[in-house]
Formats: sequence, C-alpha cells, structure tokens
Amino acid sequence: MKVSQLLQAKPVSGVLSIKPGDTINTAAEMLSEHRIGALIVSTDGKQIDGILSERDIVREIGKNGIGCMSNCARDLMTSTVVACKPEDTVISLMSKMSNGRFRHMPVVDGGVLVGVVSIGDVVKARIELIEQENAALTDMIHGKV
Ligand code: AMP
Repeated sequence: MKVSQLLQAKPVSGVLSIKPGDTINTAAEMLSEHRIGALIVSTDGKQIDGILSERDIVREIGKNGIGCMSNCARDLMTSTVVACKPEDTVISLMSKMSNGRFRHMPVVDGGVLVGVVSIGDVVKARIELIEQENAALTDMIHGKV
C-alpha cells in the first residue's frame, strides 16, 4: 500500500498549518478545534518550516509553565522534519515513524506539502488490510473462491 492511498482515504483533505510567528495559544486552539495532534508550521502553506505537536506544547508547559502560550510556533517547533512522498510505501512510513519516535509525517510532492499522515491513519489502513486478508482466507477455506 502507498502513502497516496492513505491520503485518499482521509475524510478531510488538505493540510492544517500555522505561520512561524503565530502564538502557541493559537496553535492549541487549532489542535483542539480540529481534534488533531500536530500542525505543520509554514509561511506559505507549501514549504515546511517545521512541525509543532501537542507534545512540544505539553513538554514546554511542564518545564516552564503556561507562560509559553504567548511564545511563537517557531520557538517550540521541530525544524528538522522527516517527510515522505505519495509514492512511498506505508511500511517505509511506519519504519520512519517508529525510528524517529513521532506520530505525524508530512507528505511532500515535488517539493510542495500535499498532506499529513498520522499514526492513526496508518493503524486504520493496516486493520482494514488485515480484515480483507482474513475474509479472503476464510472464503478460501470454505471453498467460496
Ligand atoms: P508526535 O509524536 O508526532 O506528537 O511528535 C513527537 C515529537 O516529534 C515532537 O517534538 C514533534 O515536533 C516531533 N515530530 C513530529 N513529527 C515529526 C516529523 N515528521 N519529523 C520530525 N519531527 C517530528
């Protein structure tokens, strides 16, 4: 299975991003409103400046308190972002997420941001695949194929 198939299966297409100068408060509001775990930080919505996850915010609050809510996204974001391409396999994506210990991966096509895949999207796709394989094997055992 390819990353492009994961993107097609997502109910909402497009990418939610914030600008590097937007506040952590704005980021938290967006994460809450859209019920997501990370935002791409981008000046133009196409090039990736960084990624800001709920974990970045919680860790900073834990270390320095809620004063960070008025800081900028660029202050807390991760700038070295690991991305994938639509033609990559989901297995390679799982390996990158597992090795990097993160749950979000931007998808870049021709240098332009085209989507974000979360570990939840990957798990959902894997479960569907396993269920399809189970059904096919059960049919074979019962001589239906
Ligand atoms: P997450 O598990 O995705 O909530 O993120 C855990 C940590 O990894 C946070 O510090 C994020 O900023 C960072 N992170 C998330 N996704 C990526 C990614 N694709 N590349 C690099 N760092 C990431």
